[in-house]
Amino acid sequence: MLAADFADRADLRSLIEGATRIVPFTGAGISTECGIPDFRSPGGIWTKNQPIQFDDFLNSQEMRDESWRRRFAMEDQFGGAKPGRGHRALASLYRAGKVPGLITQNIDNLHQASGVAGKDVVELHGNTTYATCLSCARRYELAWVRQQFEGSGRRAPDCDCGGYIKTATVSFGQSMPVEAMQRAEELARDCDLFLAIGSSLVVWPAAGFPLMAKRNGAALVIINREPTEFDDIADLVLHNDIGDALAPFIVH
Ligand SMILES: [Zn+2]
Repeated sequence: MLAADFADRADLRSLIEGATRIVPFTGAGISTECGIPDFRSPGGIWTKNQPIQFDDFLNSQEMRDESWRRRFAMEDQFGGAKPGRGHRALASLYRAGKVPGLITQNIDNLHQASGVAGKDVVELHGNTTYATCLSCARRYELAWVRQQFEGSGRRAPDCDCGGYIKTATVSFGQSMPVEAMQRAEELARDCDLFLAIGSSLVVWPAAGFPLMAKRNGAALVIINREPTEFDDIADLVLHNDIGDALAPFIVH
């Protein structure tokens, strides 16, 4: 098997050069150099501000107002974030035809901004850079929502159909997107190199994908500042800075 051969001379460049179907799986760690904090980390926003549960969003105008208030506060802080070295390296591999699709836990749209087509970015937790109506799925841009919000004394606007408008993210208590989960499984099962980048790989379903890839014969590389539960079964583990580790793969 490809994976076994590579395990002996486990080196990121040879693994990447030898692979034909690379599936990156990215978490918050790839975006921290872009100025977007890891919300789950100690000191992150979620340790100060309890996340709003999906049911509370549905049941309370106040919670919807609060949710949008927080979103626009975030926009002012991180709205101008640009792709980092990790995003650009993965986009280079994508352009070279080596990456059939990319799985991300991030909601920041930075893979798309780095040049990966939206259809090839599988977003397990959705996307916070636009909104949709929860009833009719109509898309709304944040600028429009903000205009309505600020023009109405900071009240979350509703869709013309009467449905609630929410960022296109998967909230706590909201079910995982079925299509994205399926696509992510297919990608994990059908790759020869799985790159887990900047994810602690703790939260379900993140934890399942490296195993799936490994069981189907792929080599597994983990690049993360902190150790993960899967380090023992990985073919290569780098506890380096993600930008530093991936910068050599950026092709301009
Ligand atoms: Zn609607």
